[in-house]
Amino acid sequence: MKWDEFADWGAHISQWAARYHETLRDRPVRAQTKPGEIAALLAPTPPEGGEPMQAIMADFERVVMPGITHWQHPRFFAYFAANATAPSMLAEMLVAAIAPQCMLWQTSPAATEMEGVMIDWLRQGLGLPEGMSGVIQDSASSATLSAVLTMREHALGFTGNKQGLSGQGRLRIYCSDQVHSSIDRAIWVAGIGQDNLVKIPSATDGTYGLDVATLAAKIAEDRAAGHVPAGIIAATGGTGIGACDDLQTIANVAEAEGLYTHLDAAWAGSAMICPELRDPIWHGAGRFDSIVFNPHKWLGAQFDCSVQFLRDPSLQRATLQIDPEYLKTSGAEVTNYSEWTIPLGRRFRALKLWFLIRSYGLEGLRVRIRNHVAWARELCEVIRAWDGFEIVTEPMLSLFSFRAPGDDAAQQRLVDALNDDGRIYVTQGVQGGRRMIRFQVGQFETTREDVMLAGQVIAEVAARHAADGT
Ligand SMILES: *Cc1c(COP(=O)(O)O)cnc(C)c1O
Repeated sequence: MKWDEFADWGAHISQWAARYHETLRDRPVRAQTKPGEIAALLAPTPPEGGEPMQAIMADFERVVMPGITHWQHPRFFAYFAANATAPSMLAEMLVAAIAPQCMLWQTSPAATEMEGVMIDWLRQGLGLPEGMSGVIQDSASSATLSAVLTMREHALGFTGNKQGLSGQGRLRIYCSDQVHSSIDRAIWVAGIGQDNLVKIPSATDGTYGLDVATLAAKIAEDRAAGHVPAGIIAATGGTGIGACDDLQTIANVAEAEGLYTHLDAAWAGSAMICPELRDPIWHGAGRFDSIVFNPHKWLGAQFDCSVQFLRDPSLQRATLQIDPEYLKTSGAEVTNYSEWTIPLGRRFRALKLWFLIRSYGLEGLRVRIRNHVAWARELCEVIRAWDGFEIVTEPMLSLFSFRAPGDDAAQQRLVDALNDDGRIYVTQGVQGGRRMIRFQVGQFETTREDVMLAGQVIAEVAARHAADGT
């Protein structure tokens, strides 16, 4: 492709993108395709000769678009939102054009230096203590894995990478029963084993935090049994119901026991730019050794962008740094972020944060988050008043869950019917052994009308179900 042709197509695609976003409300949120339908429309063998871009774009519309679930749809109330705001998207276009590889300072000085400054902007934005630094990763899963490996090495006096884990004693890591599955996977991959992830029961009301007395007792029990307690993982805003642990008391236990700590705030971290939302769930966050939050969820940075704050990055570097000859650079002392993470190659993710934060300002971002929280609470009260409906978990920031009349199977049928209807998209969960419907507000284009319309759609589809006797 010639570069002037590229420029024409680039302009065309920008136009396409703007129109797509302007007309999103007219599309069903969840893809309405059946498994295999899209694959059947793709050529089974690769073309031998090149095809014109015209034909490729036409097929994109015909084949791909019907199979897209629209994460940027204003009535996306499932999972957690993954906002791709316009300024962050423009930054990603520039990154796509430059295509830098940011593993070392030398391979992309601007990316490295901007990353350090963006981490510090966000540290200030989230009210974390001065001196905390950090690194941008692809996902919370990667950041959590890095933290668990650091916990492991810290507990083993940094001998695990060399000697392996056999004969080292049973490493034990503690968390609540509300943590995200990425914690379990990090434990598997780190060689610690699911049986050594000690899940402490969480409270069944309030902020659903883990029981700290049980945590302390488990650690004592493990020490008495000759095991090796290695770390504690806390959550601010768990995925299922938004569970928040009491960070101060957990940090007290960790300090007394000399344990490394990691805090998963992948979703709720973004809301911590609003000082009034920090009370009390964020108290003590600055005492954690490692904190992960995903600006690619609620803050508006295009996927992928996961920030890991670190109190003492030298511990994570001592765990992950490796310096083969071909990566050595001469000259002044610099930061090479690939020494802080598992992948060597790194994208230029700081640019979209810079575009995003400058374009909205922190206050512009706060307005959206505050609206989402207020509208979720408003809809929760509407649903609470309906006959036969029940609020299962109260709003935690902008997430709550409810049950419609009927048994567990009826809840799932209602979720499926709502998503087949297409006007909104929601997902299910389980709380206290009972199936419920999960509802979160977090998409940047969502209006109060969209949230209230969701209420109407739920009432309408549920009533239709009741009438059908299903
Ligand atoms: C989304 C989420 C994760 C996983 O994030 P990835 O970036 O997709 O790995 C982990 N923890 C919580 C609480 C989340 O909401």
